[in-house]
Amino acid sequence: MTTGMLLWVMLLGCERPPEAVVPFPEGFAFGAATAGFQVEAGCPTLSPEQCEDRASDWYQWVTDPSIVGNESLHVSGEPLSAGPGMWELYEDDIAQMERDGLSMFRLSLEWSRLFPDAEAETATTVDELAAMANPAAVARYHEVLTALRDAGVEPLVTVNHYTLPLWVHNGVACHEDPETCEASGWLKGERIVPLIGLYAGFCGREFGGEVDTWATLNEPFATSLSGYLQPGEDRSSPPGLSLYGEGVVASMVHQIEGHAAMTDALRAHDAVDASGDGTEVSVGLVMNMVAISPKDPDDPADVEAVSRMDYLYHRVFIDAVTDGAWDDDLDGTADRTRPELADRLDWLGVNYYNEVKVNSLSFPIVSGVPVSTFYPEFSWEPYPEGLERVALRAADFGRPVLITENGSPQVADTPRILREHLEALDRAMDQGADVRAYLYWSWVDNYEWNHGMDLEFGLYRLGGADKARIARPVMDDFRVIMAAGGLP
Ligand code: BGC
Repeated sequence: MTTGMLLWVMLLGCERPPEAVVPFPEGFAFGAATAGFQVEAGCPTLSPEQCEDRASDWYQWVTDPSIVGNESLHVSGEPLSAGPGMWELYEDDIAQMERDGLSMFRLSLEWSRLFPDAEAETATTVDELAAMANPAAVARYHEVLTALRDAGVEPLVTVNHYTLPLWVHNGVACHEDPETCEASGWLKGERIVPLIGLYAGFCGREFGGEVDTWATLNEPFATSLSGYLQPGEDRSSPPGLSLYGEGVVASMVHQIEGHAAMTDALRAHDAVDASGDGTEVSVGLVMNMVAISPKDPDDPADVEAVSRMDYLYHRVFIDAVTDGAWDDDLDGTADRTRPELADRLDWLGVNYYNEVKVNSLSFPIVSGVPVSTFYPEFSWEPYPEGLERVALRAADFGRPVLITENGSPQVADTPRILREHLEALDRAMDQGADVRAYLYWSWVDNYEWNHGMDLEFGLYRLGGADKARIARPVMDDFRVIMAAGGLP
C-alpha cells in the first residue's frame, strides 16, 4: 500500500458521522422489524424440514391445496423455500445489523416452533409448560437473542405475530365450518386466552434474561378484518371467513383479553433487567394505525365518520387496555370499566402504512357493530405526512410510542419515502409526541403472507439460491441517518 493510499484509508477510518440537521431525541432507537413466519423459512442449506415451521396455521394456510386453489382467498401458494432463511442465516444478518448501526431489531417468537404439539394444552403452570418446549427452538431463539445483545442491538420481541399453532387454530377446518372446528383460534376466548397467557409467561421466564421490551400481539384488528370479516386481495388470513357480526366481535374481544393475560404473564415471569437500564419488563401492543381522512372534507357526515372509524380501528383496543373501558354493544360509547384489562400497556406500538378515506353510511357495515356506519377506502400510495397525524393520535393515549413498522414495497422510491416519513415523525415530536423508536419494515424481503414474495419491503433484497443480502439504495440513506441520530 502506498503512503497516499494509507492516508486515505486512515482518513476514511476516522471519518466522523455526519451531523444531524434534524436531530432526533437522545436515545431514540432506529432499526428494522420482521416477523418469524415471514423471515425464518427459505434456508439455503438446511433441509425444508429443519428450516420450516410446519406446525402453524399460516404454514397450513399457504400450503393447503384447498386454500391455495380457492381463488376467492387470494393465497399465492408461493413455496416457503423462497423466503430469506433467517432461521439459518441469523448470525450473518445480525453481524450486518451491527455494521449498519441498528440499535433495535424487532422479531417474533413462533409459538408453533416452541410448542408444536397439542400436549402443551395440558400444562396448567408455566413450569409445566416449560418442560414441554421444543429444545431446539428454545436453543435457537436464545442464540438469536444473545447474538443481538452481543452486537449491541436491543431486541424488541413480539410474542405473537399472527401465527398460531395448528392445535390452537386449524384454519382450514374452521374455514370449512367455524361452528364445528375444535381448534378454533380467536373464536373461543375461554380456550385461547389462558393458553396464550401461559405461553407468554413461558416466553417471559425463558427469554426474560435477553429481552426487556415485549409486544404481545401484532395488529389485532388486522387479524379480525382479514381472518373473520373480509379476507381479500390485500390480506387474506386464516380462517378466511366473512362472519359479519358475532365472529368478528368475538375475535376482537378475545384478542383484547388475550393481550391483558399476556401482559400479566410477562410482568409476572420476566424478572431480569437484560439491558441494565433499570427496566425488567416493558409490555406494549402493536396496532395498525391508519391516517383517517374524510372522503369529502366539505361533508360534515364524512368528517364525523372519521371519529367512528378511529373508534373501531384504534380506540376499542387501546381504551380497553389503558382505562379498562368496555363497550358491550360496540355502539361507540363505553358501557363499563373492566379493571382486569386496565393499565396493561407500557408503550404503544404503531405500524403505519397508509391513508384511509372514510365515507359516512346510514347503516352499519358490520352487523352487530352499530358504530360501523362508515365505509373505508384504503390507499396503498405512500402518504408520509399521515405519520405526523398518526404519531400525535397515538401519543394521545398517554404512553410512549414506538413506530414498530413503516415502509413501502415501492422500492424504487423508498429513499424519498423514508426521509419524508421521518420528517413527518419529527414534526409530531416537535408538537410533543413522545416517540422512542422508528423501525423500518422490513430488514430483508420476506414472505408477505398471502402474497408470498411478491411484495418487496426489504432494506435488503435477496441474491440467488444462497440468499445473499443485497442492500437497496434506501439502506445507504438509512445508515447515514442512524449514524447521525437524525436527518442529516
Ligand atoms: C404486518 C407485517 C406485514 C406488513 C406489510 C403489517 O400489517 O405486521 O407482517 O408484512 O404489514 O404488509
